[in-house]
Amino acid sequence: MAKLTLPQACFLIHHKIPLSQVFDATGLKKKEYREVMKDLGMVIAIGLNPCTSRERHTLKDKYGHCVQCKTNNLAFQKRFNESGFIYAAKSENLGLIKIGTAKDTAQREYSLNNFGYGGGSDWKIHFAKQCNKYGRIEFEAHQGLMPHNVHRSYWKQDSLVDCNELFDCKVELAIQTIEKVISQHQN
Ligand SMILES: [Zn+2]
Repeated sequence: MAKLTLPQACFLIHHKIPLSQVFDATGLKKKEYREVMKDLGMVIAIGLNPCTSRERHTLKDKYGHCVQCKTNNLAFQKRFNESGFIYAAKSENLGLIKIGTAKDTAQREYSLNNFGYGGGSDWKIHFAKQCNKYGRIEFEAHQGLMPHNVHRSYWKQDSLVDCNELFDCKVELAIQTIEKVISQHQN
């Protein structure tokens, strides 16, 4: 189980990385978390061994490299201004909402359920819209929904893993928030 520290949270905000791209890789081997992170569109892994620098950072990319020592080749910086789908998904069992971005939403829905993301395996994407700068839209939509942000821990195989990016709100509110952010960027 891995929790973000305050300096880590500040690093993520500074680099405009939404929590939906942070994956708790506790207990997974490199090959395993690399594949899952690719499927789920995750950029940052936590819960791994610290880097070898004096600061002993624990934010890694999907290859296990420290992103705090080397920020210049981070994937999110490349994707921040790309176009793709922003989506809002809901798990009825959990009663929670997930907002994320994907190139292929059907594939993402499958991956979320296949992995059992957040402890749910009934994720359904209720809304998806193609937009430019989807990384930016996602980040701002997350900021807008922060008052509804909830933290969940769940068992994945033998590890208790953390999920910091789910929202306890109506799917309509999530959709409204996304639409509002998109419209702000169209002007
Ligand atoms: Zn480092």
